[in-house]
Amino acid sequence: MTITSRPWLEQLQPYRPGRHAPLADGSMASNESPLGTSPAVVEAVTRAAHGVHRYPDPLADPVRDELARLHGVDADQILVGNGSDELIYLLAMAYLAQGGHAVCADPAYRIDEISTYVVNANLTRVPLKEWAHDLDTMAEVPADIAYVVNPHNPTGTVRDPAEIRGFVERSRARLVVVDEAYIDFTDDPEAMTAIPLVRDGRAVVLRTFSKVHGLAGLRIGYLVGDRDIIATLRKIRAPFSVGMLSQAAAVAALRDTAYREQVRAHTLRLREHVVRLVEAAGYQAVPSQANFVLVVGDEAELMDRLARHGVSVRPGSALGVPGTVRISVPSERGLELLAAALADADHR
Ligand code: PMP
Repeated sequence: MTITSRPWLEQLQPYRPGRHAPLADGSMASNESPLGTSPAVVEAVTRAAHGVHRYPDPLADPVRDELARLHGVDADQILVGNGSDELIYLLAMAYLAQGGHAVCADPAYRIDEISTYVVNANLTRVPLKEWAHDLDTMAEVPADIAYVVNPHNPTGTVRDPAEIRGFVERSRARLVVVDEAYIDFTDDPEAMTAIPLVRDGRAVVLRTFSKVHGLAGLRIGYLVGDRDIIATLRKIRAPFSVGMLSQAAAVAALRDTAYREQVRAHTLRLREHVVRLVEAAGYQAVPSQANFVLVVGDEAELMDRLARHGVSVRPGSALGVPGTVRISVPSERGLELLAAALADADHR
């Protein structure tokens, strides 16, 4: 006997995660840090491991205090989650469940779409304009939540802070969620961030430790927003969703600003190299301010060619942009693998 799920879930396609390559340096499918994590993080996690028989701090207060200082907000304007993905689900439960309406870009970050369907809400997708959010059209859609991913995933494109501010002011959505997972890889993260906009209560900002901090495996992210929104999300969250090791790692990562700078500088430098390699091989690279580059070309041929050289990237068809592949900025060794694959004339 098959037990059916709720009817609206029957057609839902699960998230398709990226694959790791056989060699770690060849893994360019999931926008992780190619430089490992900071030694200070490893030390902090090892130390924290002695306490794992206890439940973790329920709200990750040590992390919130550190973040409050960093962003110039109060700790009660921050909610820490099991990756920012958990926070996206909480937002959907609180503001979209049972017939709500969300608006996002097309293609969107997949979890924004999936979480909307999970709570049986409606979704309007607004096609990108020259690979970036069409904020004018999105602003006209009456909605409970508008998702703006800045820089966007899967394109790496950005809208500047004035455009985001204008959108928050004009949008017909009740709440604007600005997902800044990749903000550290923009030209000027301090100037780009929408965190100053959370003050009026209509915008929240999502951040993750999975990218520039190199903590994808520990699942930790956070939301900055109005106190009332945080209080609402606290009502529905699982009480201990953020583990003790993740909390210790996040605090250590925030304090190691030198490591963060190193990852940022590496990423910006190698992103240029990736673009040059891709263009030299005759493909179009979408201008990116993230730690990945979207490449326009024959998806199957590119996937196959890269795989034969030990390089794993994300197929565009898994990201809502068939006819592309998304390449995460790799390590130096990874760049060599990529160069060899793209220079492989046999396969052109
Ligand atoms: N938002 C965007 C735009 C992302 O690309 C990702 C990572 N795939 C996330 C959120 C989720 O990050 P986390 O690992 O913190 O759940």
